[in-house]
Amino acid sequence: MSLDSITLYLMATLVAALLGAMLLFFGRQERNPALKWWGIAYLLGAASVALWTIAGNALGDMLSLAVNAVGFVACGMVWNAARVFHGRKPNVPGLLLGAVGWIAAVTSLDPHAAALRMTIGAAIVAIYAALTATELWSERRKALQRRWPAVAVPVLHGFVLMLPIVLGDMLRSSDEQFSSSIWVTVFSIELVLYAVGTVFVIFMLVSERMVTAHKNAASMDPLTGMLNRRGFAEACARVIEREAEAGRPVTALIFDIDHFKGINDRFGHPAGDEILKLFATIVVNNLRISDLSGRIGGEEFAALLPCSLEEAVLVAERVREAFETSGIVVEEGPVDTTVSIGVAGGPAGTELEVLLAAADTALYQAKRSGRNRVETAEELPLSLENWRRKTAGLPPPKSRPVVA
Ligand code: GH3
Ligand code: MG
Ligand code: MG
Repeated sequence: MSLDSITLYLMATLVAALLGAMLLFFGRQERNPALKWWGIAYLLGAASVALWTIAGNALGDMLSLAVNAVGFVACGMVWNAARVFHGRKPNVPGLLLGAVGWIAAVTSLDPHAAALRMTIGAAIVAIYAALTATELWSERRKALQRRWPAVAVPVLHGFVLMLPIVLGDMLRSSDEQFSSSIWVTVFSIELVLYAVGTVFVIFMLVSERMVTAHKNAASMDPLTGMLNRRGFAEACARVIEREAEAGRPVTALIFDIDHFKGINDRFGHPAGDEILKLFATIVVNNLRISDLSGRIGGEEFAALLPCSLEEAVLVAERVREAFETSGIVVEEGPVDTTVSIGVAGGPAGTELEVLLAAADTALYQAKRSGRNRVETAEELPLSLENWRRKTAGLPPPKSRPVVA
């Protein structure tokens, strides 16, 4: 069975056009500019290859030059789509450079140097493929993992394009007719694989990004930009495990803004929100990069510090003082901003819940002692169950008799 190259190219362009329309549709639906870039690139590329395949020689020199130039613009757009996907600006001169370089090369070359023209054309496409792969590779180091297909697809594409150039002399010396027909078939099949492979990669990247965004949203507090209770607990579990392995202590702090209901009642809910944001900033500014903090309730915040109780108390004092002297003034007058803080430290490996329960008791003590103060937990429960029993006034559980 022989493969008809024109049919193959038309199939390839049809697939690319269909994928382009799909990408454009999803780009509009998801308001994702990168998908729109990819979609338009595919449609342009498909139009260029289709025209070149169907009309071919009938196009005339000028028109075929323009059709090819559109194809190179499409390659440039695929690369720019990757840039836009990573939040970078499109590089318009770079986008047009391939097409301009092609026109300049062809108009200044000997019209019979067909092989050289092919080489230059393949090199331009391969350069854009390399740029796309580099763009996707640089993002890989930042956050997203397991994206080797994102790099492998454009690299392979560039490689397949450059292969006949590398092997050119070798093949030409044998049967030129035969070798060129093989490459035409290989290119058309590769074009379909590249088009489908790239769309697979695009959807992989987009879905990975969406999952990450949803995950972040589920662990973030939108008002203050801090971790919420869930995000804080998850992050703390990792830090506690790391510190336990190193045998270092951890300390938990719970902050509860004093008379916050009164602030809301007097100055309004929006003013209350602003004070919550201010407090979040004060907490973050007074912690080190290795400390964790989060908003665990309405006007309750927590922090986990990989340090001793004594050091954590100093931090707590700093936060308390900074909030008290923040000097907030609203239209109705100055606002009294104070916070009560409970601190509890534990040996390496103490569970977060145990630390928070102890810090909460210390916080309660701070409230009872007049607010705007830091209190430390006197003792740490060995386990949460014992702690709950103790606070509920129950005796500790009896140890089970050992059955021989
Ligand atoms: P205490 O000194 O004993 O802590 O008294 P408090 O008034 O701070 O404590 P209480 O628990 O009685 O009130 C907490 C208030 O926090 C009640 C609630 O309306 C308010 N609040 C909770 N979440 C938000 C929020 O997101 N924005 C605003 N503005 N207020 C909130
Ligand atoms: Mg409270
Ligand atoms: Mg309060």
